[in-house]
Amino acid sequence: DYWKLLPYYQPSISDPEKDLDVKRVLFAFFPTYRDSPLKPMWSRVLAVGDASGIQSPLSFGGFGALTRHLERLSDGISEALEADCLHKDDLAEINAYTPNLSAAWMFQKAMSVRMGQNVDPKFVNRLLATNFDLMDKMGIDTIKPFLQDVIRIDGLFGSLSRAFVADPLFMPQIVSHVGIPALVDWMGHVGMMGLYTALHSGVTPVIKPFVKNMKNDRARFQWNRRMEAWKFGSGCDYILPR
Ligand SMILES: Cc1cc2nc3c(=O)[nH]c(=O)nc-3n(C[C@H](O)[C@H](O)[C@H](O)COP(=O)(O)OP(=O)(O)OC[C@H]3O[C@@H](n4cnc5c(N)ncnc54)[C@H](O)[C@@H]3O)c2cc1C
Repeated sequence: DYWKLLPYYQPSISDPEKDLDVKRVLFAFFPTYRDSPLKPMWSRVLAVGDASGIQSPLSFGGFGALTRHLERLSDGISEALEADCLHKDDLAEINAYTPNLSAAWMFQKAMSVRMGQNVDPKFVNRLLATNFDLMDKMGIDTIKPFLQDVIRIDGLFGSLSRAFVADPLFMPQIVSHVGIPALVDWMGHVGMMGLYTALHSGVTPVIKPFVKNMKNDRARFQWNRRMEAWKFGSGCDYILPR
């Protein structure tokens, strides 16, 4: 219908067959942002939900992401109001860098085909089949967080190392598909996931009581956001529903 009705929507096109030079057919798209979560542009204004780019760039599951971050957001916003930390730089601490969200971009890249890219028609299915089969075999502790858009260092390393063993000849194809710059970028985020996991497990339990008693409101606000970023950015917030 769209094709037939196009001349009515767009009067400059009288015959789509002749007037258009079709490059690619796109049925729908979801906007996502590589540098998400997005930092506030103005003081006293904070984007949440899809507007903050917190949704997974892999599944676009923004409602799940919103509910996962709801408690963190409401705590952060209450504390920002109480401590009068409403400058855009303070609010940026609430939408802090989240390495596991940034790492998810790589999976999106591995499953998308760019303009002009020539890809084996079975590539994406082979990638999905190998990884989902392995994660399924690794058990519910691995597959469930992934299906709920939480990427964690343990599941990531476990599934990647098994994928390498299960289908070693596929790895060079994946690297050539995503490209070296994207791979290097991803490795940086994975490194940060490891660091955030260590900070959440090793440093948070030690400093939390001191942070709680801090007299300086801004410093307490900032340290609380830092600890939350370590927790959420490494997927350590995830509780497996049993
Ligand atoms: C087809 C589809 C399937 C999906 N499936 C899933 C799923 O299975 N799981 C999942 O987790 N997520 C899913 N999502 C994503 C999920 O719906 C969104 O991530 C979620 O609704 C985002 O919530 P939000 O409150 O941030 O934004 P929205 O729900 O987009 O709310 C923004 C609101 O702001 C209003 N608005 C916009 N501009 C203005 C303005 N200038 N003034 C006043 N109001 C304005 C809009 O009308 C809208 O009501 C799906 C999305 C789509 C489209």
